[in-house]
Amino acid sequence: MIPIANRPIPLLPEVESFVKRPQRLFIANTFVEPASGQMIPTENPATGDVLAHIPAGDKEDIDRAVAAARRAFEGDWRAMSPTQRAACMFKLADLIEAHAEEFAQLESLDVGKTITSARAIDVPFTVYLWRYYAGWATKLYGKTLDLSLAPSDTFFSYVRREPVGVVGCIIPWNYPLAQVSFKIAPALAAGCTTVVKPAEQASLTNLRLAELIVEAGFPPGVVNIVTGLGETAGAALAEHPDVNKISFTGSTAVGKLIMQAAGRSNLKRLTLELGGKSPTIVFADASLEEAIPTAATAIFNNSGQVCNAGSRLYVQRNVFDRVVEGVADYANRLQIGVGLDERTQLGPLVTHEQKARVLSYMKQGLQDGARVVIGGPDLLQDIPGNFVHPTIFVNTTPEMSIVREEIFGPVLVAMPFDDPDEIASVANQTHYGLAATIFTRDISLAHRLAARLNAGAIWINCFGVFDPNLPFGGFKQSGMGREFSQEGIEAFTELKAVTVKL
Ligand code: NAP
Ligand code: MG
Repeated sequence: MIPIANRPIPLLPEVESFVKRPQRLFIANTFVEPASGQMIPTENPATGDVLAHIPAGDKEDIDRAVAAARRAFEGDWRAMSPTQRAACMFKLADLIEAHAEEFAQLESLDVGKTITSARAIDVPFTVYLWRYYAGWATKLYGKTLDLSLAPSDTFFSYVRREPVGVVGCIIPWNYPLAQVSFKIAPALAAGCTTVVKPAEQASLTNLRLAELIVEAGFPPGVVNIVTGLGETAGAALAEHPDVNKISFTGSTAVGKLIMQAAGRSNLKRLTLELGGKSPTIVFADASLEEAIPTAATAIFNNSGQVCNAGSRLYVQRNVFDRVVEGVADYANRLQIGVGLDERTQLGPLVTHEQKARVLSYMKQGLQDGARVVIGGPDLLQDIPGNFVHPTIFVNTTPEMSIVREEIFGPVLVAMPFDDPDEIASVANQTHYGLAATIFTRDISLAHRLAARLNAGAIWINCFGVFDPNLPFGGFKQSGMGREFSQEGIEAFTELKAVTVKL
């Protein structure tokens, strides 16, 4: 049995006071009450207690926020040069960096994630990303070209790249500060303005960011933040006739609802980052010393609440037992506890609903005949908070829900394979296609397999290498479009072809 750490580090006074403060919506650089006057309680994942109250924004608030974003798009933001817009973004990056510990503590408190990963990943990656896209603000350009059907001295044609307009950004709860930045940083760099709907479960760092947006000098309306429920505030944003694009990260089911809303309203542009059931494939010739801890990290990091989590492990049969034992041993040694405790390596899940969902998948797996190597639904259930034990299943079949569906928790299914030529089709047996990881020393095999796997990110002898300059996104029902990189900013633009008769 793993001991539960319980030695929360003292919170910064500014974090204490921020959590206690009544939260407000952020519209046109002012903090305002929601039209409904209603608040939504949020949960402390480590204890199950109420942590904070966020405003229940609804359609009326979304209308106000979209109107503010439209005014800024047509007015102040458009009137600024790319260099001036970039300066606001660089300033915001500096401010986030100056408040790094505050953001890390808030994120850990609100999501339950470990303070060590909030410090090492969520906050610094956010800062890098703002600087990366601040750089892009001054580097977008169109092109001139010759027509194919006319001599080149008869027409002059050029293609302009213009901002798409007002962008609705709908955010999930697993990396709230980073995810909101993945959307608004490239949108602002492209010259768009934004209305953000944070996840109701974890809105605090988004609201703290709003205060820094004012400090960084962004004109009113460039970023607006309306907290609230997905089915009210989120749906109103997705339906809004004056929103030109939605950038969404979340579940495939909600992604489909957003597509329908776009179709019903104004055919707004969409970027969708959705779920995954990503394979980790380990060949017998791989360095198992590297493959084992990496395969474990791939599923247990952020307590498995990661869209690209390596949730299906395929291991060549002659090393299967060794690898599964190694991953189980790694999982067994993980220090489970309150995210804010620096010793903690695996925090609680974000909400008690998410915990119930993960436990029900585990119970279904057992009912379907899978065998638990480590973990299971009964462990850690006598303590408060949303704790779930890291769990590994073997003896699975491809039809089981634990093999097919995204669990979004620390649950791994492990399966042996024999024929290297068949592993691509087995790994591709999913309607998802976000990421895949390959471990082998045979680099030709790795590249051949990389070409055959239907996934937007392939990691060879590594896992989860993210970079602002690498496009990220899904094949199949893991989404459409890409975030990060040049593709990520171009996704917030429209092309306009201009032709002059000479
Ligand atoms: P979710 O339920 O799909 O929610 C995502 C966001 O959409 C939340 O802000 C949510 O509001 C909102 N929403 C819900 N219903 C809506 C509707 N009808 N119209 C408009 N917006 C609506 O997902 P989640 O539970 O937050 O996150 C877990 C899921 O996200 C997993 O499936 C995971 O794979 C996926 N995810 C994908 C990536 C990626 O990059 N591909 C990254 C992270 C997570 P509420 O706050 O009220 O729920
Ligand atoms: Mg949700």
